[in-house]
Amino acid sequence: MKRLPLVTLAVGTALGLAVGVAGTLAYDASPDDTDAPTTGPTDGPTTQPSAEPGQAAPRSVILLIGDGMDDSMITAARNYSVGAAGRLVLDGLPATGAMTTYGLVPGPGPDHAIDYVSDSAATASGFSTGVKTIDGRISQGPSDATVVPGEDHETVLEAFARAGKRTGNVSTADITDATPAAAATHVNDRTCQDPTTMSACPAALKSAGGRGSIAEQLLDAGVDLLLGGGQQRFDRALEDGSASLLDHATTDRGYRSVRTADELAAVDDLAGGRLLGLFAPVHLTRKYAPLEARPGGATTADGRCVEQDRGTEPTVAQMTSTALDLLDDPDGFFLQVEAASVDKAEHERDICGAIGELEDLDEAVETALDYQGEHPDTLVVVTGDHAHSTQIVMDDKGGIDTATVTTADGDPMTVAYSTAYREATDGKERGKATHTGTQIRVAAIGPGAERVTGVIDQTELHAIMLGQ
Ligand SMILES: [Zn+2]
Repeated sequence: MKRLPLVTLAVGTALGLAVGVAGTLAYDASPDDTDAPTTGPTDGPTTQPSAEPGQAAPRSVILLIGDGMDDSMITAARNYSVGAAGRLVLDGLPATGAMTTYGLVPGPGPDHAIDYVSDSAATASGFSTGVKTIDGRISQGPSDATVVPGEDHETVLEAFARAGKRTGNVSTADITDATPAAAATHVNDRTCQDPTTMSACPAALKSAGGRGSIAEQLLDAGVDLLLGGGQQRFDRALEDGSASLLDHATTDRGYRSVRTADELAAVDDLAGGRLLGLFAPVHLTRKYAPLEARPGGATTADGRCVEQDRGTEPTVAQMTSTALDLLDDPDGFFLQVEAASVDKAEHERDICGAIGELEDLDEAVETALDYQGEHPDTLVVVTGDHAHSTQIVMDDKGGIDTATVTTADGDPMTVAYSTAYREATDGKERGKATHTGTQIRVAAIGPGAERVTGVIDQTELHAIMLGQ
């Protein structure tokens, strides 16, 4: 079927390495590929010899994260969207490997016990800084306890900014959520998202001489583009009550504010200032209405997921497209894009929510690949941050929470959530599904892409993205 091009690519990559050429893997944006529908099977990109053999560091980096996007969830979304023999756009990346995502347990160190199932804060900190850390930690190293700050480590975004390059941070979550936070801020606990939620981070308060909350740090970091959710958050006041975070952004930090997809599309360049796009009160609306698994099974009227009205919100692909238009620069840029609700829907055992978010990410990947095809010195990395709960299973028997959808093949596919809590416990609500600890997929194209093959750890992405 569609496997042949992938086999050919693997051979081509192996040959490239065998002759010692540090060649780059470039996307062939042929008209056929460019016009291919996102949701249809594609033949995928092809490998080309590098135009600049031996080139070390990528000029620009586009990092696309499906939060909680593991192989099981990719398979479920592929089955649903394009059928078992189809291929998503992200399946077509020429360099593909497996990535470990484990974290550390708080303690005296320097040798910490392993946390086999880590959270988005620890994992995003891992690939942002190259240093493993503990759950809840944002781009700081490990420490004795969650409330004790660790050492700050520079992120890839910060390194690009320090080199005078443009930077962008896009998420479908509240922009102060863990993954976008780890790109450009440093704090001991992920809950310290604005000046009113600092109880776990007393040392980080600006009045205590710290860097401040995640929202304040995102603005202080001078990120050129911040696009996501979080309107409610930025309506909150600074520590001294003198202004809202939004007013602070526009008055003191040089940001223009946009609130709708139309306003975003109307921005032509960064000459008018940095861009703060907050498109939803908290997280952006998912593509599909929820279909939550439950004991005995759940489904929709015809087994297909139901699209829901997203009002004036942009999709992650639209945010990515605008970001690339605005960041495109001879000096290069770093752009992180997160589809956050693969994870958030999986926590809710919502298979349609997770599939829709992954479909949306796949559209953003296509946008990034189109850019990479025209700018082969750009490294595009597509990966998750940790594994999650969705399993493809045979039937809805056995008392586990399940849901069944009809795939693009026209056949039923049942998924189960065996990590969902049976009873409310330890502050977890009944039915809340948790992360799992298996390795996940990493894929790439462009300078350094050959380094994501085989089995790597997510902390290695830091050096790969910096071309070190
Ligand atoms: Zn999660």
